[in-house]
Amino acid sequence: MGAVRRFDPQEALRPALRSIPAYAALEDLDAVARQYGVDPATVVKVDGNENPYGPSPKALEALRGDYQPHRYGDAGQRRLRAAISRYLDVPAESVVCGSGSDEIIDLLFRLFIGEGDRIVTASPTFGMYAFDAALHGGEVVDVPLLEGWAFDFEGLEAAARESKAVFIPSPNNPTGNTVPVALVERLLGTGALVVLDEAYIEFSHTLSLARRAATEPGLVVLRTLSKWGGLAGLRFGYGVMHPQVADLLMRTKQPYNINAAAEAAALASFEDTAILDERARTLATERERISAALAGLGWLHPYPSEAVFVLLRLGREGQRIEGKAVRDSLRKRGIFPRFFDTPRLRDHIRISIGTPEQNDRVIAAFREIGEEQARG
Ligand code: PMP
Repeated sequence: MGAVRRFDPQEALRPALRSIPAYAALEDLDAVARQYGVDPATVVKVDGNENPYGPSPKALEALRGDYQPHRYGDAGQRRLRAAISRYLDVPAESVVCGSGSDEIIDLLFRLFIGEGDRIVTASPTFGMYAFDAALHGGEVVDVPLLEGWAFDFEGLEAAARESKAVFIPSPNNPTGNTVPVALVERLLGTGALVVLDEAYIEFSHTLSLARRAATEPGLVVLRTLSKWGGLAGLRFGYGVMHPQVADLLMRTKQPYNINAAAEAAALASFEDTAILDERARTLATERERISAALAGLGWLHPYPSEAVFVLLRLGREGQRIEGKAVRDSLRKRGIFPRFFDTPRLRDHIRISIGTPEQNDRVIAAFREIGEEQARG
């Protein structure tokens, strides 16, 4: 008999995971409310880019209906792929559904990014790409956004030539600007896989590249029902891609990755697009209204946004205000915004767009904080 050896989880970890990457997930609302002594029921939650109107009426009805939670769903996602095919006018074989678009991102990494492979991002941007890269041992080549959050065409193109994939949201999170089609065209000529994340496209004037993705092996378009569809907690997203790429994802995903409730609510949402589109238009109008009102306070500088949030730079000319302090002042007033503790965003705050009443509360809270600052 050999000597007794004990399993050592740290020792056994894959080398890429010896230091596990941290993802700065949303904080729990109840816990933060308790910490700041506010009633959770009155909180205006503007940190997660969720839809303040919630699911569509038909989705709510479906969730109360008989969607059979005791059965496994369809591993082939036939009904869902057919519904999305009708909605976007793309072939069903070019659609793959995931438990959030996060899962599609993870599947792309599993398929294409191994130890030492490079991916390109343009920071500041959505944190999942770098997180998944770390999990899979990939290396992130970041080509930071330029002044005014403009994309660095030359830098991105050069980096893409040396990389497996490029991940960019359009509109970008957290800056709110969209990716010029000319940039996508240039990136498609580099040989890298271009993943265009359209999580917020329904709030923008930009045309989706989903149909292009269905015929172009180098392009994947990501979409989600977390924002437009108001289903963030149910987890439903999807990708549109060339059928050959879709087939690879379908063969490597977990068979029952879409839960029964999410399937029912997603199918109903695609039957209720008129109301979801109308809510998206209201939120876009509110985005312009809240941006103008906050800009009018003098110390807040909203960047033009095409998404369901606005990034604000804080401080008057020559003055620097810490985002963290403003976040805390807002939290005390029951407003929960998003703060990013990174060098370029430390004097910024991101707020999601709420209902008109919620936005009025956000504006009032910022006004109060401004007056408090002026009193010193
Ligand atoms: N992409 C972007 C740009 C996002 O901001 C988010 C959500 N914060 C996601 C994808 C993830 O969406 P889902 O809920 O579908 O996983």
